[in-house]
Amino acid sequence: MMSDIQSIHDFDLELICEYFAGLDRQGPGSPEVTNRALDFIEGLNENSRIADIGCGTGGQTIVLARRAPGKIIGIDLFPIFIDLFNANAKKAGLQEKVVGRVGSMDNLPFEEGEMDLMWSEGAIYNIGFEKGLNEWRRYLRQGGYVAVSEASWFTESRPAEIEEVWRDAYPGIDTIPAKMAQLQSAGYMPVACFSLPETCWTDNFYAPQAEAQRAFLAKHPGDAGARGFIENQRHEQRLYEKYKEFYGYAFYIGKKL
Ligand code: SAH
Repeated sequence: MMSDIQSIHDFDLELICEYFAGLDRQGPGSPEVTNRALDFIEGLNENSRIADIGCGTGGQTIVLARRAPGKIIGIDLFPIFIDLFNANAKKAGLQEKVVGRVGSMDNLPFEEGEMDLMWSEGAIYNIGFEKGLNEWRRYLRQGGYVAVSEASWFTESRPAEIEEVWRDAYPGIDTIPAKMAQLQSAGYMPVACFSLPETCWTDNFYAPQAEAQRAFLAKHPGDAGARGFIENQRHEQRLYEKYKEFYGYAFYIGKKL
């Protein structure tokens, strides 16, 4: 019964942050996917201003920064991620180009029309896809781009078990055409959309977690909360293996009209 499984909302935020801080990425993605999405963005130059919202520790930001001209500001709610983000930018020699700041995606520290590109991988669900697209639009100049990856249904209908899991985790999940329509209604020209390959989940997201889970459990022996959280992660991975034909992430790219 799915109701016996705890939701991620039930766990201690500090524990969750500590766990994900030990990983290079906090969500499904890959350098190839980041670069593929970037290929759709036109008109960037040395003066461009780019925001990476919900940047985590910056795995995708570093990839972005190596190819995109201009300056990038990463925003994340959690200081522990931003500290690692800034350390990672420095390690990559990109500290002049990339800066991380603590902030919330529902109250961004930007001026109207100052941004050329609003980027966000696996994070806009925290505010909701539709709401995020509508609210972030004001920070973009006309002709600026939004590029976000987001949990999406790949089929018209799904088995009840996985429907129920997502209804609890993120009721905003929807089909790709429905999300493209939301992007258009929010005032963007739909530029491109593609689904992320399975390897973004299996090889890049879940595989590195096996070692992170062992380390995390060794650090918190006998802690029922930590144990429960790891069980939950493992359960989520099993669900992905079982139902991956029905859901995954897609990248959505739009241009402000
Ligand atoms: N973009 C990264 C991280 C994705 S995980 C990657 O693809 O690897 C989602 C991120 O959103 C986390 O780092 C989390 O701390 C951040 N987040 C959650 N709520 C937020 C909010 N209200 N404002 C800004 N960031 C938030």
